[in-house]
Amino acid sequence: MKIYLETMGCQMNKLDSELVLGRLRAAGHEIVDAAATADAVLYNTCSVRRHAEEKVFSRLGEQCKRKRRGGGRPIVGVLGCMAQRLAGELAQKFPGVDIICGPSEIDRLGELLEGALAEQRQLAIAPPRPQRPRELDDQARRRLEAFDISRPVASAGGAQAFVRAQRGCDNFCTYCVVPYVRGSEQSRDPAAVCQEVRRLVDGGVKEITLLGQAVNQYAWRDGGRQVGLADLLAMLDPIAGIERIRFVTNYPGHFDRAILQVWAALPKVCEYLHVPAQSGSDRVLRAMNRRYTIAEYLDLLAAARQMVPNLSIAGDFIVGFPGETEEDFQASCDLVRRAGYKNSFIFRYSPREGTVAARTLADDVPAAEKARRNAELLAVQNEVSRVHHQRLVGSVQQVLVEGPSVRAHKQPRSAPPGTVQLTGRTRGDHIVAFDGAPSLAGQFVNVRVTGATALALTGEASV
Ligand code: SF4
Repeated sequence: MKIYLETMGCQMNKLDSELVLGRLRAAGHEIVDAAATADAVLYNTCSVRRHAEEKVFSRLGEQCKRKRRGGGRPIVGVLGCMAQRLAGELAQKFPGVDIICGPSEIDRLGELLEGALAEQRQLAIAPPRPQRPRELDDQARRRLEAFDISRPVASAGGAQAFVRAQRGCDNFCTYCVVPYVRGSEQSRDPAAVCQEVRRLVDGGVKEITLLGQAVNQYAWRDGGRQVGLADLLAMLDPIAGIERIRFVTNYPGHFDRAILQVWAALPKVCEYLHVPAQSGSDRVLRAMNRRYTIAEYLDLLAAARQMVPNLSIAGDFIVGFPGETEEDFQASCDLVRRAGYKNSFIFRYSPREGTVAARTLADDVPAAEKARRNAELLAVQNEVSRVHHQRLVGSVQQVLVEGPSVRAHKQPRSAPPGTVQLTGRTRGDHIVAFDGAPSLAGQFVNVRVTGATALALTGEASV
């Protein structure tokens, strides 16, 4: 069968899609780049923002229309968080949708496709939290562990790979659907993570990114022994063939300083920390149920910078959270300046059904005001990013080349014959554009930085 899969949302979804595609390929299916030529069209969806859900509704409308014209084909499937959150609504609004599969059932996709071929709608979702018994999450964990560990390594595709360290989340930030759709926080067995990483090395991977919704809270209990993120990093660092290790995303509350100490001593763990603040106002943080203050957050950044020289830090912000005043918003602008982020991901608040904020707080910041705050915070961040990048001009950076640039970055001279503009990333996660042979993709190259913008660095390969 020809299968098309489009992925929305976070790195966790990208990893799920990669694993699903590996399984489907191994089962003899062909993966195609265009929905129009596919026998089955699948969407791996995100529920974190309303905009992402609206995009899926529009795609489903198109595919269901195509299906009515095409005598029952393609098979249409919704996977991931939106399937879990809106199964009933999807089933009712789109009679043409054949598969609705939540994130904890994604390993069953092959069997669901078989069922859909027999023209039976396939519904695979977990009971909702908090009613869902913990044992169900435990059963799902065991099944999904088998899914992760049997990952076809050739499907990692390139020198970089995501590796799951954790599933789910128990932090219950008041705006967030993740604890409801992805289940309780569960850490993977460190031995299984190490085994997976060794297999990825055999497939050519040089850089891994450990994934978790709050990866610094990673905690594996084995009898009386507890393995935390610091221990996991120390277990991964000696694995031959792995040159770089990253870990995202971090929750700033109660960040164990032992992680910083171990990190400082491990040469392969990169100088990059993604640690979302979400707001610069203590009042808003309390309303978000983020269990830290701005003083504690800044203290964490200072400790991390002291322990890990040349650290680059990225943040996330939500603007227009219920009750956010101009003063609260200006506190976020102020935090961006004080934190000196390399970059920030900035989002406008949208209420997500089922969350505490949607149930109890009025969405009282008008859309136009959210748009203004978004633009203003972005402008502040761009200026901070430009200064951050500018400091690297003149330095030589080790870059892991990802391939030809998707978007052209301005460079002061024309490319020599036989070269194209390549992009890659430094250890600090800075994007670097430089001219080089396409065959350098997946290789480490030293690049002298000659220019900087808010978004990226430009440079020349240094011999
Ligand atoms: S830490 Fe908060 S924002 Fe992040 S996934 Fe968990 S509940 Fe959502």
